[in-house]
Amino acid sequence: MRQKNFQEALQDPIFKTLTKASKELEVDCYVIGGFVRDYILQRDNAKDIDVVVVGSGIQLAQKVASLLNNQPKVSVFKNFGTAMLKHKDIELEFVGARKESYHRDSRKPIVENGSLEDDQNRRDFTINALALSLNSNNFGDLIDPFEGVNDLEKKIIRTPLEPAITFSDDPLRMMRAIRFAAQLDFMIASPSLKAIADNKERLKIISKERIVGELHKILASDKPSVGLALLHKTELLPYILPELVALQGIEEIEGQRHKDNFWHTLEVVDNISKTTDNLWLRWAALLHDIGKAPTKKFHKKLGWTFHGHEFVGSKMVYKLFKRLKMPLNDKMKFVQKMVLMSSRPIVLSEDFATDSAVRRLIFDAGDYVDDLMTLCEADITTKNSKKQKKYKNNFKIVRQKILEVEERDHIRNFQPPVSGEEIMQTFNLQPSKEIGMIKEAIKEAILEGEIPNEYEAAKTLMLQKGKELGLKSR
Ligand code: ATP
Repeated sequence: MRQKNFQEALQDPIFKTLTKASKELEVDCYVIGGFVRDYILQRDNAKDIDVVVVGSGIQLAQKVASLLNNQPKVSVFKNFGTAMLKHKDIELEFVGARKESYHRDSRKPIVENGSLEDDQNRRDFTINALALSLNSNNFGDLIDPFEGVNDLEKKIIRTPLEPAITFSDDPLRMMRAIRFAAQLDFMIASPSLKAIADNKERLKIISKERIVGELHKILASDKPSVGLALLHKTELLPYILPELVALQGIEEIEGQRHKDNFWHTLEVVDNISKTTDNLWLRWAALLHDIGKAPTKKFHKKLGWTFHGHEFVGSKMVYKLFKRLKMPLNDKMKFVQKMVLMSSRPIVLSEDFATDSAVRRLIFDAGDYVDDLMTLCEADITTKNSKKQKKYKNNFKIVRQKILEVEERDHIRNFQPPVSGEEIMQTFNLQPSKEIGMIKEAIKEAILEGEIPNEYEAAKTLMLQKGKELGLKSR
């Protein structure tokens, strides 16, 4: 038996206030969209409530605010005919029921007032078109014209109307379909999936910011490969991340093959998502191999090589972020650093890790050395369980060594034990290249383990280097 009444979902006193306000204004109103969907799915999303009013959303918002004790401020978005208010920890969005029609070159619709049914027709998916009545005659009744609850049970993403039109009208919905499939672990119904593939070019009219917004939600999901594989399958991915698409495929020359770095990357992203929620570390996993496409070469003796792909990849990160209008800030630098250093711990783990190699790793990675290790551990995708075990164990050893070396030598956030100021005073120098040379010699000696990371030893070396450079100390 399908549950038809959802009063239970509407226990918060705010809903009774909504009912009272709409009654006073003599309009009908409903909770719609994500709140209803997530209630049925038992997902925690009860703080964002979308209310649709058969009338003015702005007027209803103002009425609701006047009935609440603390009279919250109403933010009005006149151009959109919407209003928003915050009450306790709840955010209420009000919109008048509307009918929409679209121009081909824009995702901004022409809007007219409409009925609840018109408003449900304009929703993107059946599972997002569910509404609960807030009207006193049928409070809590579910209005589900497209069998959205059935789709929730079957875990299906489907458009209420003809999918080709839905996606062509507002191509952002293609990204949203894939994002919901990834977030909820749902299937996209095949006519909808086909319509996405057919309309892939329409993604061009969507702003980069919107696309990235959805991409972030896909990356933040439990198993991002679900969404990424759908972006690939529908061929939306070339419009978003062509660098990744370029990694797909296996070439064979003289019986030698390399791995498919696209599918490998997806596995790495899934792996890292099991251990971290850090979105930027997930980005680093997604981009860690992008330099492999432009650096790929076949050598008769060496087989396939990707020489310098980490450096090339880190340069590509900048261009990619810029193209997607993502912030070119410390997050981007972090991703670049991870890509640049992504092979360093592997080299260490293959060989006996010397203290000086570990010190250099800590010095270069700084505060991000743990993130780097997490990335490298996620990078192990071999299906050979013996090798898998061996690599994991090697990284464990490197992690342990990092702890030991760091405790002893304090290389993280390295501060030169002798300052430039002191070098200048000692040798009576103006700012000059000799100061840099002495500082570099001290740093190198510490990293190599020739002297400890301590003031006295560094000072002795400073005097010695100064002498070698023909400087006189005071
Ligand atoms: P989440 O909070 O996880 O993003 P949501 O469904 O609440 O999920 P919103 O973007 O807040 O997502 O949208 C609220 C509702 O508005 C949706 O449930 C859907 O009914 C409708 N909606 C949002 N964007 C679109 C769109 N591009 N086309 C059609 N309907 C949309």
